[in-house]
Amino acid sequence: MNVLVVGAGPTGLLLAAELTLAGADVQIVDKATKRSGQSKALTLQPRSIEILHSRGLLGDLLDSPRLPAGHFAGVPLDYTALDTRFPYQLGIPQLRVEQLLEANQDVRRGLELIDLHQDEDGVDTTFTDGTTIRADWVVGCDGAHSAVRTRTGIGFPGRDGRFTAVVADVVVSGVRPDWQLPELVPRDGAVMTLVPLDGGVHRALFTGPEQQHLPKDQPVTHDEVAAALRAWYGADVVLRELRHASRFTDAARQAERYRDGRVFLAGDAAHIHSPTGGQGMNLGLQDAFNLGWKLGAVVRRDADESLLDSYHDERHPAGAAVLANTRAQGVLMVPDDDIACLRDTFADLLAVPEANRRLAGVISGIGLAYAPGDHALVGRRMPDLTLSDGTTVSERLRAGRHVLLDEPDTPRILVRPDGYVQWATDDPEVGPPPNFGHRMTPAASSR
Ligand SMILES: Cc1cc2nc3c(=O)[nH]c(=O)nc-3n(C[C@H](O)[C@H](O)[C@H](O)COP(=O)(O)OP(=O)(O)OC[C@H]3O[C@@H](n4cnc5c(N)ncnc54)[C@H](O)[C@@H]3O)c2cc1C
Repeated sequence: MNVLVVGAGPTGLLLAAELTLAGADVQIVDKATKRSGQSKALTLQPRSIEILHSRGLLGDLLDSPRLPAGHFAGVPLDYTALDTRFPYQLGIPQLRVEQLLEANQDVRRGLELIDLHQDEDGVDTTFTDGTTIRADWVVGCDGAHSAVRTRTGIGFPGRDGRFTAVVADVVVSGVRPDWQLPELVPRDGAVMTLVPLDGGVHRALFTGPEQQHLPKDQPVTHDEVAAALRAWYGADVVLRELRHASRFTDAARQAERYRDGRVFLAGDAAHIHSPTGGQGMNLGLQDAFNLGWKLGAVVRRDADESLLDSYHDERHPAGAAVLANTRAQGVLMVPDDDIACLRDTFADLLAVPEANRRLAGVISGIGLAYAPGDHALVGRRMPDLTLSDGTTVSERLRAGRHVLLDEPDTPRILVRPDGYVQWATDDPEVGPPPNFGHRMTPAASSR
């Protein structure tokens, strides 16, 4: 087997799909015998929509509610300013994203990894039921408490959570229909949001003084949620039913390296942070999209193994930036009068279009660029342009291979399978470097 993907959350599922597209022999496993049914994330950010679109994976997800705004610590960000076909978030529960990505994939469930050893040629993995699997490469997409990370001995520096909060899916009565966007302004040391989901269910997300004294693994009770709703909304909102509920913190940690020989980390296994702004799942999807084509090319022997180091080089800074912005958001949300003044000042500055565009680019993922090169376009995300023959860049990328764009009166551009510019020139006589620098062959050229 070429690659073992451990963990069938959104990160592992997209990675396995990418590796299969690249022609690799992949197995994906998960310790859970079935999905929990809980959705932590509720939205897809614009860059994640672009990613799925470029593989033809969106299906009917585009029919989901469109939110033309994101937020930074509760201060709205106008996404209509973004240069993308999708200047909005899609209101889609994480469960639906996982179901979509799992279609046509064979996840081996009930396999919990407990040990792993690598040698020069491969990696041996062991599971709780005694199963052993050997693969050329292993990717840990096994979430925040990643066994792949700990068994590989990769450090996870950072800090513990400073607050504990509750996420609960509830059926309530007395909700006003105009509560559409999260209200994240603290009041009396507490924060509460109530967002409508499908089927008469609401997502309650709250924290207050009481939650700070409860351990993270203590079950959330009906009484605790009912009391929090009553304290915030008064007697109008009554809890009728408590569905899934759990606690989370704003712990901020990041794997010190994303690659150790034949083992990689992606998604929450590589980084954890507060969910503020709705970025975690999106960050994991982008890790998978970055690693998938590179590992696929190495497995096919179309690229040197050195290409794999660029996964850490590109994605570690991207993860660090999200940790930094979520920590900054956490500060702006501290319930304190002086910080409320800072929030107001900050909200004022975000009314400046360029400031809004910059921060909307960060939270949406649209603004991310990798290391620059000797042409201004290198390292930048390729917009989904319509080409002279009527096709689009995303259609050309569908096969998951490099695409050479050779359009009249524009630079010649080599686009990587993940939609970033690898090489460009303004000289029509100059071609891309031999084998694109890592012995690659384009699937399609626009000429
Ligand atoms: C309250 C809350 C709200 C959030 N809201 C958003 C949001 O709006 N937008 C957003 O982008 N993100 C959000 N997130 C973050 C998002 O949910 C996570 O970042 C995302 O689930 C990470 O996906 P993953 O695939 O990396 O890991 P996970 O979803 O954690 O999946 C890991 C998988 O690995 C499996 N596994 C674990 N250990 C083993 C093992 N030893 N062997 C085999 N399998 C194993 C697990 O069963 C699981 O299926 C939120 C998080 C929280 C807590």
